[in-house]
Amino acid sequence: MLAGLPGSVEIREVGPRDGLQNESTIPVDERIALIDALSVTGLAAIEAASFVHPKAIPPMAGSAEVMQGITRVPGVRYRALVPNERGTMDALACNVDEIEVVMSISETHNYKNLNMSPDDSVTQIIDLTELAHQEKTPVEAILSTAFGCAYEGDISPKRVAQYARKVLDEAGVDGLSFGDTSGMATPRVVSELLDALEQVEIDISQIGLHFHNTRNTGLANIMFAMQRGVSRFDAAIGGLGGCPYSPGATGNVATEDVVHMVEDSGARTGIDLDKLIGCGQLAEQLVGRQLPAQVLRSGPRTRTVAS
Ligand code: ZN
Repeated sequence: MLAGLPGSVEIREVGPRDGLQNESTIPVDERIALIDALSVTGLAAIEAASFVHPKAIPPMAGSAEVMQGITRVPGVRYRALVPNERGTMDALACNVDEIEVVMSISETHNYKNLNMSPDDSVTQIIDLTELAHQEKTPVEAILSTAFGCAYEGDISPKRVAQYARKVLDEAGVDGLSFGDTSGMATPRVVSELLDALEQVEIDISQIGLHFHNTRNTGLANIMFAMQRGVSRFDAAIGGLGGCPYSPGATGNVATEDVVHMVEDSGARTGIDLDKLIGCGQLAEQLVGRQLPAQVLRSGPRTRTVAS
């Protein structure tokens, strides 16, 4: 095992939501089939749905049907993103295991994505967290554009840390995750954010990180963050994804590639890579094109090619 890494790392699958929301609409039964296939790979958490208004993000229409149609595997947490009170009520009615609320640290991106200021988003997160906690459902706040913004450029790590502290203290969220919406993170930028979080006494072994592979730094960012003690990362099957409100944002890091690298480093994910590769193939069938995941094509390094 590589020195200094966490013994186990949680990889959270975000393809069925973050990935598919950028595709032309995939039928509900196919979304269910993808989630069901992912559910038996050993993944501990799957972002399964988004309870947004269907006009805002048409590919996420039918999220309640998706949640009701999947076969829930014990031990897997099925998570859903919510943008407002209505979405939170709908998600709770579907018995999601975790609610995700999102805000951007970038003022411009937050207005484009959520039509409000970051401070108003904090107020909203307070309200939505209270609502979810009444149903004993945990809430994670996702702070997006945490490593830079396509509109505003660099984002001050200190500003990210201040908002992180604020949502923890004022909303009492159960978890924090930091999103690299436009794929601007590099190991240096990750290092600066982790330093800033430690300065406001946030335990970085408890946070999650979400990288996009826009500039091909996703895996380097994950390895660097693991060496700093971060043990939770989002990834999308096949490398699906992007962000409709962030120009040029490409796919998430691919789950196959991340699991392959993390397992090889000696940290355990609990995920069966062969089954995961099968899910990547299914994802390619659903979207009808080749996806960027590399291990999906090559297989793991231990697989010798007989030719
Ligand atoms: Zn993403």
